[in-house]
Amino acid sequence: MSTWENNEEIKIFREYLQIPSVHPDIDYEPCVAFLKKQAQNLGLPLKVYTPGGEKKPIVVITWIGSNPELPSIVLNSHMDVVPVFPNEWKHPPFGAEMDSEGRIFARGSQDMKCVGMQHLAAIRALRKAGIQLKRTIHVTFVPDEELGGKPGMAMFVHTDDFKKLNVGFSLDEGIASATDVYPVYYAERFIIQIHFKISGTTGHGSLLHENTAGVKLNHLLRKMMEFRQEEENKLKNNKNFTIGDVTTINLTQIHGGVQSNVVPPMIEAVFDIRVAVTVDPDALIQKIEKFCEESGGGIEIEFEQKEPKVEPTKIDASNIYWTALKQAFDDAGIKTSTQVFPGATDSRYVRLVGIPAIGFSPMNNTPVLLHDNDEYLKADTYLEGIEIYKKILKALANV
Ligand code: ZN
Repeated sequence: MSTWENNEEIKIFREYLQIPSVHPDIDYEPCVAFLKKQAQNLGLPLKVYTPGGEKKPIVVITWIGSNPELPSIVLNSHMDVVPVFPNEWKHPPFGAEMDSEGRIFARGSQDMKCVGMQHLAAIRALRKAGIQLKRTIHVTFVPDEELGGKPGMAMFVHTDDFKKLNVGFSLDEGIASATDVYPVYYAERFIIQIHFKISGTTGHGSLLHENTAGVKLNHLLRKMMEFRQEEENKLKNNKNFTIGDVTTINLTQIHGGVQSNVVPPMIEAVFDIRVAVTVDPDALIQKIEKFCEESGGGIEIEFEQKEPKVEPTKIDASNIYWTALKQAFDDAGIKTSTQVFPGATDSRYVRLVGIPAIGFSPMNNTPVLLHDNDEYLKADTYLEGIEIYKKILKALANV
């Protein structure tokens, strides 16, 4: 038996990992029941909100501060995990098996059931030590983040129930780091997913028609790929840049055509674009509209996704929570690097309503395995993360 087998926190973490809250069609009831048990054990009140419908519960466990009139701290995590390809896993994805090195294998071990349980574990430890913090802490567990969070955090932030939580600051997920430096995320890029509906002259495949959809597609792809190359060069030529600092442009789907000897009247191309926070998304859309005209016109643009511009969370002295967080990291000798998150998380909805939010998952010296096969987290890394949360919660909730 390994040294971690009997650790109470490891036991709780593994139990949570064993709940298959995996897309599609998640039944969140086992998660809610599990969290109710956790709240009971902690002696803390729990509330369930359902702005997105009965099947999309939002669970909030609350630790009231000694100055409950002060704005509160939210510790958010999502309960859902992405699908698995079980045949490609060496361990059952919902078995939470632990090997002799203490590696715990499960979908959600990094993204992000670890963080949700570490939040509770840190509170448990602080309460056991008789520590009382000034600000109220709300530990929130939300559904469907992996599908864009619409019935979860996206709706919740606009409800009166959320406003009543009087949130001053929020912590949510980050990503593991292969080095000893912990990335800390203060912003996210805007997502734009565009369908280009390219229409052109149709006819027999044996002729040379003008302005076919294929010719236009060729022009458009060239322009988009040149744009992509410019961004790739920016990333390569600036060693301080991470992927979040540039705009990414990727062709993700092409549809069209009916038969091999018929020139199609329409071809559809889909691009996933993540716009750097320093770029004006409207200017970028104008640039793309110009590409369409230059490619021969007759190209209709449809947005599958176009999110509102969200301001980055300030990481300077004007943000008292940031100052406290940074101080706590520095005092504990924790090396951090502030970055723009490469993907999207629920933090964008929190920032959208004007609340500062930081993404941070305490997993350093860990391979980045979110959404990958054999996702795992080491027990030691998990326990170390609890210690880090204890320090930063003390700092944040006493601001
Ligand atoms: Zn996640």
